[in-house]
Amino acid sequence: MIWNKTIETMSRNEMQELQGIRLKRTVERMYHNCEPYRSRMQEMGVSPADIRSIDDIVKLPFTSKKDLRDYYPFGLLSSPMSEIVRLQASSGTTGKPIVAGYTRNDLNIWGEVGARCFTAYGIGKNDVVQVSYGYGLFTGGLGAHAAAETLGGTVLPMSSGNTEKQIMLMHDFGSVALACTPSYALYLAEAMRNSGYPREEFKLKIGVFGAEPWTEGMRKDLEEKLGIKAYDIYGLTEIIGPGVGHECRYQNGTHLCEDHFYPEIVDPETSEPVPHGQMGELVFSTITKDGMPLLRFRTRDLTSLNYDTCECGRTSVRMSRILGRCDDMLIIRGVNVFPSQVESVICELPELEPHYLLVVDRGSNNLDTFEVRVEVKEEYYSDEMGKMLDLRKRIAHRLQSVLGLQPDLKLVEPRSIERSQGKAKRVIDNRKLK
Ligand code: ADP
Ligand code: ZN
Repeated sequence: MIWNKTIETMSRNEMQELQGIRLKRTVERMYHNCEPYRSRMQEMGVSPADIRSIDDIVKLPFTSKKDLRDYYPFGLLSSPMSEIVRLQASSGTTGKPIVAGYTRNDLNIWGEVGARCFTAYGIGKNDVVQVSYGYGLFTGGLGAHAAAETLGGTVLPMSSGNTEKQIMLMHDFGSVALACTPSYALYLAEAMRNSGYPREEFKLKIGVFGAEPWTEGMRKDLEEKLGIKAYDIYGLTEIIGPGVGHECRYQNGTHLCEDHFYPEIVDPETSEPVPHGQMGELVFSTITKDGMPLLRFRTRDLTSLNYDTCECGRTSVRMSRILGRCDDMLIIRGVNVFPSQVESVICELPELEPHYLLVVDRGSNNLDTFEVRVEVKEEYYSDEMGKMLDLRKRIAHRLQSVLGLQPDLKLVEPRSIERSQGKAKRVIDNRKLK
C-alpha cells in the first residue's frame, strides 16, 4: 500500500521540478524572515533570485549543529512566535539542547510523512499501534503518535519504560505494531519471553524501529525474538523528527520523503558533493516547512543514495543503512571503528546476545586500550574454561578481521549489561576525560 501515490511514485523529472518550486519558495521566505540566513546569503553573494531550479541548491549555505546552538533557542525560526504551535528538542550531548519550532502546517507535514512510513510497513486503520518511544521533548513518541493517528490506526501512547505494563497491554489490547528504538525492542523481547504469556496470544507483527543506528544482524535477531517483521524509520529533530524516511516491504534501502526534505551527500571533510551512489555525509534542506526551515543541514550521518525505482513502485530516493554518525566514529590506535561494525560481528555469532559495550581508554604507556564487553547466551555461558576460551578466540579473530584491530574481549554473563529504554549507550570513551 502507498499512502500518497501521486507523490511517492512521481517521475524523477516531475519530482525535481516540484523540489525546485518548493526550494525557491522556502529560500524567499527564509531570506525575508530569518536574519542569520539573510546575512549568510548576502555574504556569499546569493539572493533568492539565483535559485531557479533544485540544482541551484549548491549555491546556498550549509547549516550545522553549531549554528543551531549559536542561535539558541529561537534565532533560526522563520515564523513569528504567534504561528509556532509546538517546540521539541533533542538531547544535545553537550550543554544546551537543540530546539525545533513547528507551525500547524509543519505538524500536518509531520503527520503526512509519518503516515507514508506506517502505510509502507503495512499498518492499517484496524491496527493498534503501540508507541513506546519516549513522549516529551524527544521527537520519537509524538512523531510516531502523529503518524499512526494520521493514518487512522488506533494509537496506544505508552511512551518508554514501565516494561511489564507494556507487555501486559500489548497482550490484552492486541497491539499489531510496536514503535520504539531497536534497543528497547530487545529489552521488550526479553520481557515478553519472561511474561509467561504464550507468543500466540500476542497479535504483534510489525516493528517500527529507529532513532539509533542498527544493523541487519540486529534486525534478524529482533525478528526472530519478537516473531515480527522489523522496519527501519529514520528522522531527526532538526528536520522534523521520525518520518524523514522509511523502508518498504522490500527492505532494500530507506525511502526518503524527498518532496519535503531534499537530500544531498557530501564529503564530510571537504563539504564537496560526492559522486552518485558513494558514501558520505547526509545533508537535508527542508523545502516545505515554515517554522524552522533549514538549508543544507549537515546531519553527520553517513550513508549513500540510490535513485533507481524500487520494486515497490516508489520512485523516491533510497538511502543505505546508516553506518553511524561521523561523531560516533572512534579512532583507536589510529584505526577508525564504528560501533555498528562491532554489532554486525556480534549478531553473526549464535552464541552471543546483541547486548554489548565498548570501553575505550588511554593506558599509562599512552596507548589506547579497547575493550569489547558482550553477553553470552545462557545456553552457551559455561563454567568450563576451555569452552569459553575457544569461543573467545573465535570472536576475537572475527573482530580483528572486520575492524583491523584486536580488542580486549570480555565475555560477560547474560543480562549483565544495562538495558536501554530509549537510545542505547554503547560506548564509554574515557579518553575524553583525560
Ligand atoms: P539526538 O541528536 O539527541 O540523538 P535526535 O532524536 O534528533 O536527537 O536524533 C537523530 C539522529 O538519530 C539521527 O541524526 C541519526 O544519527 C539517528 N537515527 C535516527 N533514526 C535512525 C535510523 N533509523 N538509523 C540510524 N540512525 C538513526
Ligand atoms: Zn520500496
